[in-house]
Order: sequence, then structure tokens, then C-alpha cells
Amino acid sequence: MNFLEQKIIEDGVIKEGNILKVDNFLNHQIDVDIIRQIAFEFKRRFRGKTVNKILTIEASGIAIAALLGDLYDVPVVFAKKGQTANSTDDKYVAQAYSFTHKKMNNVFVSRPYLTANDKVLIVDDFLADGQASKALIDIVHQAGGEVVGIGIAIEKGQQQGGRLLREAGYQLESIAILESMDYATQTIVFRGQPAQSLHHKAERP
Ligand code: 5GP
Repeated sequence: MNFLEQKIIEDGVIKEGNILKVDNFLNHQIDVDIIRQIAFEFKRRFRGKTVNKILTIEASGIAIAALLGDLYDVPVVFAKKGQTANSTDDKYVAQAYSFTHKKMNNVFVSRPYLTANDKVLIVDDFLADGQASKALIDIVHQAGGEVVGIGIAIEKGQQQGGRLLREAGYQLESIAILESMDYATQTIVFRGQPAQSLHHKAERP
């Protein structure tokens, strides 16, 4: 098991509806040491690639993107969600269906922050159906930039996003890939590994 899989076993909670809660270190409270390790791992996996911008989506991708931007010494941009797209004159806009909130979001980046010169590494906390990643890719392409790769902390391998992005030819690097999880037994299976019981139980916040 790698450091992130280990952390999920220690602090993750499986919720009903195929949701892994990692508020303890990623989605609410932030364990900066774990985020730093995630950033180092992305830098290692994308070595040899030219990157001049990091792009993520608010909110939980921002911490990972910031530490990675520090390693590359490049600007970090986060796409914003939810504003109605009454005008696209000053921004690039795409749409993404939110798996966790069950609603369609507009995702946008103001035009000055992405250009045709940008070689963009996209990062996010979770990959499920790939909606957020697809919206970010769309926005980079609207700007005429290039997507160098996609770095994901936790990929839910039982959903289609990872397969679709790999089939589309993107270098997708996910540090922990969940094959399945079971709410009743609080058991998780990471890709290529035997089932593991989470240390904490579902009653935990
Ligand atoms: P996608 O856009 O790939 O369908 O879903 C990814 C987004 O949904 C992530 O940015 C994340 O916010 C959210 N998400 C999807 N599944 C989970 C989950 O099991 N746990 C958490 N915490 N977030 C999830």
C-alpha cells in the first residue's frame, strides 16, 4: 500500500451511495504533510513533461494544486463553479455534473489566466465519472492550451472517468485507485490489492 492508501485506511469513512469521505485530511481539514506527499508524487510521475501552469477546480483541489505549483514554480489557477453563464466574453465556460451534489455546475476560468502558450497539468482530489476533468480539459482547449497530464489523488475505478480519460489518450496518474467499497462492512479494495477494513467506522463525522 502507498502512503495515500494507508491514510484512507486510517482516516477514511465509507458513506452510503458509493461515497468515500476523507474530510479528516483532504476535504475539510487538510493534512499538509499528506498533500505535500501527493504533490511530490505527481511531480515524480510527470517528470520529463514541460508544465507552465497547474489547473484545478474549487475547492478541494486547491491545496494539492498550490503545493504542486510551488514545486514547479508555476502559476496555479482554480476554476470556479456555479455562476450562471450569462456572458462568456471574459471567461471560458464548461459544464460539469456534480456526482456528490447531484446538480449541473457551470465551471469557468477568466480569460487572462489561461492562454494558448499554456502547458497545463490538471489536478483534482477525486475522479469519479470524469465530469470535472472533462470540463477543465474543455476550458484549456478553449484557451488554445495543451493538457500535459491529469493528476488525481483518489480515483474511483468503479466509475467510468478513468477509463474514458485513458482511452482519450491522456496521461492520467491516480495515486489511490478504489476498485470497490462496501458501506456495511467498511471494507475497501484498491486496484490490484486484497480487501482492507477501514480503521474507523461509519458513525464518525
Ligand atoms: P467527477 O467529476 O469525476 O464525476 O467527480 C469528481 C468530483 O466529485 C470530485 O471533484 C469530488 O469533489 C466529487 N466526488 C466524487 N466522488 C466522491 C467521493 O466518493 N468522495 C468525495 N469526497 N468526493 C467525491
